[in-house]
Amino acid sequence: MIVGAGFAGHRTARALSRILPRDRAEIVLLNPTDYFLYLPLLPQVATGILEARRVTVSLAHTLPRVRLVLGEAAGVDLEARRVAYTDPEGRHGELAYDRLVLAVGSVNKLLPVPGVAEYAHGFRGLPEALYLRDHITRQTELAAAEADAGECAARCTFVVVGAGYTGTEVAAQGKLFTDALYAQMARPRPTARAAWRSGGTQPRWLLLDIAPRVLPELDRRLSATADRVLRSRSVEIRTGTSVREATEAGVWLDDGEFVPTRTLVWCVGVRPDPLVDGVGLPVERGRLLVTPQLNVPGHPEVFACGDAAAVPDLTRPVRKKDGHGGDGQRDFELTPMTAQHASRQGDVAARNVAASLGHGEARPYKHHDLGFAVDLGGLKAAANPLGVPLSGPLADAVTRGYHLAAMPGNRVRVAADWLLDAVLPRQAVQLGLVRSWSVPLDTASPELARVPDAPAGKGPHRTTE
Ligand SMILES: Cc1cc2nc3c(=O)[nH]c(=O)nc-3n(C[C@H](O)[C@H](O)[C@H](O)COP(=O)(O)OP(=O)(O)OC[C@H]3O[C@@H](n4cnc5c(N)ncnc54)[C@H](O)[C@@H]3O)c2cc1C
Repeated sequence: MIVGAGFAGHRTARALSRILPRDRAEIVLLNPTDYFLYLPLLPQVATGILEARRVTVSLAHTLPRVRLVLGEAAGVDLEARRVAYTDPEGRHGELAYDRLVLAVGSVNKLLPVPGVAEYAHGFRGLPEALYLRDHITRQTELAAAEADAGECAARCTFVVVGAGYTGTEVAAQGKLFTDALYAQMARPRPTARAAWRSGGTQPRWLLLDIAPRVLPELDRRLSATADRVLRSRSVEIRTGTSVREATEAGVWLDDGEFVPTRTLVWCVGVRPDPLVDGVGLPVERGRLLVTPQLNVPGHPEVFACGDAAAVPDLTRPVRKKDGHGGDGQRDFELTPMTAQHASRQGDVAARNVAASLGHGEARPYKHHDLGFAVDLGGLKAAANPLGVPLSGPLADAVTRGYHLAAMPGNRVRVAADWLLDAVLPRQAVQLGLVRSWSVPLDTASPELARVPDAPAGKGPHRTTE
């Protein structure tokens, strides 16, 4: 049984159905949605390049040998070897397992900053991306009809916190999106009010991070490229800066400046899915402790991989400070929370589950990073495939080629949307189907939009939209 059908879980299921003979095992996949979500293209959904279904890949279609159970795991009984879950209609069920692979991924990381839980939105799921696309469009439209210059400027100001790859992509692509919307709406029209027509209010994007550079965890050359592209688009990069407080009217930065805005996008990172906490097994930085074979110590029948697992990175020994290892606890760094690692760990988990059933031999997880690609939109990217730094259209081609190759399906539809985006203007249309209150920042289920009669969440949230 596999819990979670993201990069790690989908690959585990696919590899297992290839390795194990049909009559040898039943493969059960528990996931809240009937699709695999290709997260790296989410910024393109939020900025109107891709339609939402393009980044989803049907589980039934790509995993024909796997029994899909729609639902969210609520707890694991390790003694009885059962997983309790809740299905999309709120019904409770239980599933028994012989082997368990936990691949539940991660959720938005919160920081104890006043007002953030109420006024910020995360960027970890499809509902949040859909919400942001609509919200950006709506703010631009409302600004166009606004008589008050201050209000107009606040609606045209977008603040992104966290300049990792997610925040950087959102800011870089978001600025292009709002520029395109602005160009469409700035044409002389009777409905545009004075504040807008005067041309004084251009879309303004701020990208904040407490680190001294954008993309602080990636190669410096990627940072330099991203920094250059962002500045050329007039994105205001505020390094060494964070948010002190968020309010309905805007955000207070920790340097004392107040930025009037209606948009605060929270991209400060992720933490393992809260299910991990409830399993009652040892964790490191919130991730389930596993051996290099992805096995949970003391439970040979339980495996874990992806963002939810603390997998030792055998290619990166802990730098020895005193001859006894960095913190005296472990010999290797943990693998970063990336799709690159999660999907390959899925392959290894499948192989080792099969080995535990007498098929083949177990092996440890070891993967040398192949580089990273950051899509900046507008035919620009920053990439370092195999350590070779690239920028401009070549990097963009490599990045798009990489995404197409990495997607387990829907490639033609994605490529078709890219083609359409190259020749047609962005659609200035908001459907308004995902509202602010249905995508709270503090949620254990970023993959699902909250529905009105669902139990109240952990944090309060704005209900004005
Ligand atoms: C916007 C964005 C862009 C990114 N871009 C890149 C990139 O360019 N390159 C890169 O390498 N990485 C990128 N990443 C990181 C990458 O997406 C993650 O590291 C990767 O998704 C981790 O894979 P996973 O399988 O552990 O988790 P996920 O892919 O998140 O899958 C977890 C699955 O578990 C399910 N689940 C959660 N809780 C439960 C439960 N209780 N019961 C049942 N199922 C559950 C979820 O619905 C989901 O299907 C990006 C992430 C984001 C958010």
